[in-house]
Amino acid sequence: MIEKRHFYIGGAWVEPRDGREHVVIDPSTEEGAVTIMLGGPQDVDAAVGAAKAALPGWSATPPAPRRAAVERILAEYHKRERDFAEAISLEMGAPIDFALAEQAPSFSWHTENFLEAFDRIEWLRPLGPKGSMIAMEPIGVVGLITPWNWPANQIALKVIPALLAGCTMVLKPSEQSPLSAVVVAEILHAAGVPAGVFNLVHGDGAGAGTRLSTHPDVEMISFTGSTRAGRAITVAAADTFKRVTLELGGKGANLVFADADERAVERGVRHVMENTGQSCNAPSRMLVERPIYEMAVETARAVAEGTRVGPASERGDHIGPVVNARQWEHVQGLIQKGIEEGARLVAGGPGRPEHLNRGFFVRPTVFADVTPGMSIEKIEIFGPVLSMLPFDTEEEALAIANDTAYGLTNYVQTGDEARRHRLARQLKSGMVEMNGKSRGRGAPFGGTKASGRAREGGVWGIEEFLEVKAISGW
Ligand code: NAD
Repeated sequence: MIEKRHFYIGGAWVEPRDGREHVVIDPSTEEGAVTIMLGGPQDVDAAVGAAKAALPGWSATPPAPRRAAVERILAEYHKRERDFAEAISLEMGAPIDFALAEQAPSFSWHTENFLEAFDRIEWLRPLGPKGSMIAMEPIGVVGLITPWNWPANQIALKVIPALLAGCTMVLKPSEQSPLSAVVVAEILHAAGVPAGVFNLVHGDGAGAGTRLSTHPDVEMISFTGSTRAGRAITVAAADTFKRVTLELGGKGANLVFADADERAVERGVRHVMENTGQSCNAPSRMLVERPIYEMAVETARAVAEGTRVGPASERGDHIGPVVNARQWEHVQGLIQKGIEEGARLVAGGPGRPEHLNRGFFVRPTVFADVTPGMSIEKIEIFGPVLSMLPFDTEEEALAIANDTAYGLTNYVQTGDEARRHRLARQLKSGMVEMNGKSRGRGAPFGGTKASGRAREGGVWGIEEFLEVKAISGW
């Protein structure tokens, strides 16, 4: 069992003040893998205190040395990429090759993109010719609360822009994925980020998360996670008037028209299965135009049945378990609901794959003939489960796609350019990805409605951590 009982506060690994023990379960084996301490109020207070003490120095540091610190972080990351991938693979069950190819490198990808965006920010901008000036200034001490599903990705999307903006911070990663956060702290330490600028406290939502969200010296909470926790944090942060930015869940629609390219359905199914369905932007509802619907169902069945499931430590192209017992129960409950509510089970179904008798493994599952309003059409499943619905007209597809509490990413597959342009504007979501083209470098990631309203990445992702000051008589 790995032991990681310390917190990184004020530039050093320190003993918890009022923490309690917590064992992270390896989702592939259901055995204890890592022991950490969950921080209590005194630990959070110490970390916020260190961040507050470091704020005057770091916020006054000119842009060039801030940029240089992030360049050093990037260099240190490259030395630790394998450790990072192994940590992620163990704690949240991503297959090791997937962790090496996708999970860990998301950290450097975002970091490089932020450096590019950083160079485009004007920190002091004249407003018109008459001595009016706009200053962009760091908001102050920020609390960063992250989930377990893409840990390197989500930590990079918060820590790097906060550093570049001149903020000091306390990171509280998910109690399910503490190891990857420890690697981040080690990377920042090796990169010489000044003491107190970055602090790490492990903990759960009710304890450390709530303390951070209510702390009077924290100006902002940047949160990624469930819609439930996003709401709780918003309420908790209200008394101290914090800025709260939220990246929450999703129930993305993938509109597949009869003139879509021949790989569109396969691509969509693979995207849902990737990371064992544990991506907020998964295209988990596939809407297919009637003339190609049965063919698409058949393709989806074949792709799901061809999706290999196995332990995270196994090499090769497969999906791992879902993260924990609670998530397994949640996914199983929704698969059962899909059957009870009358959807057609085309592949997968309840229980573990036959060849696995332990671990939180789920059978890659496809439901066809799902109708709007069914539980599996409305609720975020966060597992390898696809819901397929037929449609007859573009208007109908648009109405189904938009009839959701969420608004993160929608997808369109069609060879018709005019239709693409129409739908890109009419779909209600923070992101629309068409014909398999993923977002460009520096594109903001974020949603609308119950998906939260933050924008992470690029210039927007740095500006989330800045205050705008209007100055006259300059
Ligand atoms: P979660 O909300 O349970 O936990 C996320 C983080 O919030 C953890 O660090 C947890 O300890 C903390 N937390 C929980 N309750 C809290 C509270 N009351 N106060 C303060 N902190 C609290 O979510 P999860 O299960 O770890 O992650 C899965 C969810 O995250 C899914 O719904 C998924 O869609 C969403 N997600 C969204 C995005 C996005 O960018 N939109 C990205 C990844 C995941």
